[in-house]
Amino acid sequence: MKPGERVLKGQLIAKAEGYVSANLHAPSSGTLTAIEERPVAHPSCLSAPCLVIETDGQERWAELPPPLDDFLNRDPDEVRARIRWAGIVGMGGAAFPSAVKLNPGPDRPIHTLILNAAECEPYITCDDLLLRERAARVVAGGRVLQHLLGARHCLIGIEANKAAAVAAMDAALAEGHFPEAEMVVIPTRYPSGGEKQLIRILTGKQVPSGGLPAELGMVCHNVATAAAAADAVLEGRPLLSRIVTVTGEGVASPQNLECLCGTPAAELIRQAGGYTEKVARLILGGPMMGFALGSDEVPMTKGANCLLAASAAEAPDPGPARPCIRCGECARVCPANLLPQQMYWHARAKDLDKIQDYHLFDCIECGCCSHVCPAHIPLVQYFRFAKTETWAREQEKQKADLARQRHEARQSRLERLEQERKARLRRRKEDLSTPTPAEPSGETEQDPKKAAIAAALKRAAAKKAATQPRNVSDLTPEQQRKIDEVEARRRAARKVTAKTEPTEQG
Ligand code: SF4
Ligand code: SF4
Repeated sequence: MKPGERVLKGQLIAKAEGYVSANLHAPSSGTLTAIEERPVAHPSCLSAPCLVIETDGQERWAELPPPLDDFLNRDPDEVRARIRWAGIVGMGGAAFPSAVKLNPGPDRPIHTLILNAAECEPYITCDDLLLRERAARVVAGGRVLQHLLGARHCLIGIEANKAAAVAAMDAALAEGHFPEAEMVVIPTRYPSGGEKQLIRILTGKQVPSGGLPAELGMVCHNVATAAAAADAVLEGRPLLSRIVTVTGEGVASPQNLECLCGTPAAELIRQAGGYTEKVARLILGGPMMGFALGSDEVPMTKGANCLLAASAAEAPDPGPARPCIRCGECARVCPANLLPQQMYWHARAKDLDKIQDYHLFDCIECGCCSHVCPAHIPLVQYFRFAKTETWAREQEKQKADLARQRHEARQSRLERLEQERKARLRRRKEDLSTPTPAEPSGETEQDPKKAAIAAALKRAAAKKAATQPRNVSDLTPEQQRKIDEVEARRRAARKVTAKTEPTEQG
């Protein structure tokens, strides 16, 4: 696409290139005015390429693909392609492409789909609202996901403090369209909305360290992701919007808003009555796992579940970190049974090998350890940093491995070509040193090249023989007699000529 082009709502404007990436569709109709770097919602506060659309307010839709109402009779690959086209990602916050997660591969059969209706963090209520308002849509989407995974069961985990949502889901399930689904009400305790934690609560099984739920035959999706899958498959609609919780003491009227992806955060704050004088920080996500935004002009994305305009009391400045006093509180509260204190030492020393011994990648970054640490050490920040460094190092290693493989492949190709060249030279020499056959006999098959060389040699020999003086002994008696007669006539003629020639005096 180029700046100046008109776009329609739902039109594909950025196509996924890699396997782990997602399509992007225009959230509204209007004109594409720029493709440029803009601040985005990221902990680094850095900019990233953005497509800027000046909306026309007309909400004119692009032509959409037809619904796949009969998805149960269709090849799962075809339905999965629709999910991929729709640009659906995990809407619990991770934003991992759903089509990838829905394709665990033939060697990992899935028996249970888990729908996560437990909110990620305190303050966030967007999934609660979704279930209260669109429970039937979530159930329909769950049926789609179950079909794609080939799962026999579906467990829907929902927290006990969401009575209205539980009632709505009960009513939707009672319609009988998804008999394999069962709702399980779980205690409200942070961070039970974490994928691995929810699986343990619902099934009693522990996802292996460094492993995936698919290794246990389970796949977990957020309920909002299920609703988006229903929109894509049953209505042919791409993912364009989501529900966002706008909350905190720093906003006048906290509420849940459905917002189009790309809407500036400032617009959501304005819709929620604007900032109050208490606002201290604007956080994307919840108070535990969220991060402070550098600007409220950043666009909301598919994974943005909460905008927290926090007061100083809600997000207090922890003050300077002090030395660890080895109290062990961090290990006591860690829901992943890790040893944050040890991980912290190795992260601080940038010992990226040693920290892996403490299962760094099992850390779900819940922030519980930082929250309870009496020394105010920002433990989770150290763990995020260590993960980023480990990924960067791994990427560098992969690049170096690829370069080495390419170099080795080039060397072996050059060696092979040199050996082939030498073999050709050797064969040519052997051909030239082989004696030429006297005469090709009858129908005998002969190499045309060799025959041409032999004929050329024969012609050269004949020419040479013709120019050489003949040996007298080779003449026949008849030839010798003729030569003698010619010679005698020449001699007689010379004598006559000598007698008749006048002298100079005469
Ligand atoms: S909670 Fe803080 S002070 Fe206590 S052991 Fe953990 S890192 Fe050290
Ligand atoms: S952030 Fe801390 S408490 Fe949470 S999983 Fe990681 S190490 Fe454990």
